[in-house]
Amino acid sequence: MNRRILLKNMLKGLPMYCVAPWLLEACAKAERDETLGIEGPVCIIGAGAAGIYAAAYLMKLGVDVTILEASSLAGGRIRSQNGFADFPAELGAEEIHGRRSLLYDLALSSAQADIVPEVGESKYWLNNVLRDSYFFQQSSALQGAGQTLLQISESLASYEGPDISLQEYLINFPIEPGMIEIANAIIANEYGTQLDRIGMYALREAEQRYSSGIDGYFLKNRSMWSLFETAFPDAIAQIKLNEPVGEVIVRESDVLIKTIYDAEYFAQKVLITVPVSLLQQGFITFNPSLPQVKLDAINAIKMDVGSKFILRFSAPFWDDDTGSILGGLRIPEYWVSSAGKNSATPKLTAFVMGDRAAYFQGMAEPQIKAELLDELGLMYPAQNPSELCTGILVQRWADEPFIRGAYSYPSPQSTGMREVLAEPIGNRLFFAGEACNVNGHIATVHGAMESAYLACKAMKT
Ligand SMILES: Cc1cc2nc3c(=O)[nH]c(=O)nc-3n(C[C@H](O)[C@H](O)[C@H](O)COP(=O)(O)OP(=O)(O)OC[C@H]3O[C@@H](n4cnc5c(N)ncnc54)[C@H](O)[C@@H]3O)c2cc1C
Repeated sequence: MNRRILLKNMLKGLPMYCVAPWLLEACAKAERDETLGIEGPVCIIGAGAAGIYAAAYLMKLGVDVTILEASSLAGGRIRSQNGFADFPAELGAEEIHGRRSLLYDLALSSAQADIVPEVGESKYWLNNVLRDSYFFQQSSALQGAGQTLLQISESLASYEGPDISLQEYLINFPIEPGMIEIANAIIANEYGTQLDRIGMYALREAEQRYSSGIDGYFLKNRSMWSLFETAFPDAIAQIKLNEPVGEVIVRESDVLIKTIYDAEYFAQKVLITVPVSLLQQGFITFNPSLPQVKLDAINAIKMDVGSKFILRFSAPFWDDDTGSILGGLRIPEYWVSSAGKNSATPKLTAFVMGDRAAYFQGMAEPQIKAELLDELGLMYPAQNPSELCTGILVQRWADEPFIRGAYSYPSPQSTGMREVLAEPIGNRLFFAGEACNVNGHIATVHGAMESAYLACKAMKT
């Protein structure tokens, strides 16, 4: 769920953010562009949103493109599973954040009738009682706390204090521990980590730059991946699966790309779209090695452990108006992922990041299910969720060998580093992907696509 919507649910509306002018340019379609004068071939490493969008864009310009994907599946952190419910279960990206984005444009062009706005109210697990927003508005103490949290959230973009962690910053406010858990759910967990790992300057940077809009949308009964399949079949057909790149050698007149299985590819330019975690852990060797400034940026931008657990029920036990449940100690946010769908399968998605996600690493599925149902049982003691649960889907992104985490977050020392990460090297090596997004759309599908667009534009000779 979208933090801006969650807060709006709590108390009042939020102001709209302005559109960054360059984003409008980024939304221009490839057909409108002059040829970039790129002499191919171009090799794209990674077939997630950034890699596929770049491939489609370059192919429309007539560029010879090869896409190498390490895993046996295209899509990266866009992945759904059929058969678990009567609609595709989203294991990764699920929501379209705002209307001013390449992803919203994509949905409009191929699935307009399937775009549905986020529905439902937030419920708050506060001091061991589940509260709704009505309760916040009625209780003067909680209304004050809610207002404070809203003010904190609204003022992040203009923060002027020292570069401390978000947790250290929150201690300055008169908000009780229960509200800190809600802040964790709607700010830190949404950003892919926990309160003490977010740096205030990096958070301010992300908030200042964010411009795609505060509204959130889902797709009715179709998957996020289906948008890409519909819009970019030619690019997807080009993807070479099971080709993990292990070495990139920049030579006088071209670039040699080697997979860990010793297959070799040659290109004039290479676009690297792998998660920043893979670069941090040195999965790909660069020869000559990357400049120190680039390595510093790679190391400053962190990715945390993050998972989604999807629970299926024979009947809903939550109120009809429920959108999400915030502030749980095991799971900071659950949302009703069957809401707004044509579905007879009630489903809750548990969304957990940071140490709380790490707690579930290596745990067997029945144990995860028991832990979640135990927490939901505390929240809904009269309804007995355990009796109603008919299955669980577990997706631990840190376990994926070619992802190794959830998504990049505003870590301390990462301020200004995304530009450095996205900076090309010598008109041969280009970088894209969600962590390279320079306009606050980090950790999103549209952010990955925007970064790919900018990287392609930078290839112009
Ligand atoms: C749990 C979760 C929920 C999310 N929810 C949302 C949401 O609701 N809305 C939203 O907009 N975004 C969401 N996101 C974020 C979004 O999914 C990502 O920002 C986006 O998909 C990233 O795209 P990308 O192309 O940058 O990277 P990826 O999708 O990670 O693609 C990179 C590709 O590179 C491949 N690769 C890695 N190493 C190599 C190698 N050595 N050689 C070749 N290939 C390699 C990987 O296998 C992968 O396919 C979510 C992410 C997660 C994990």
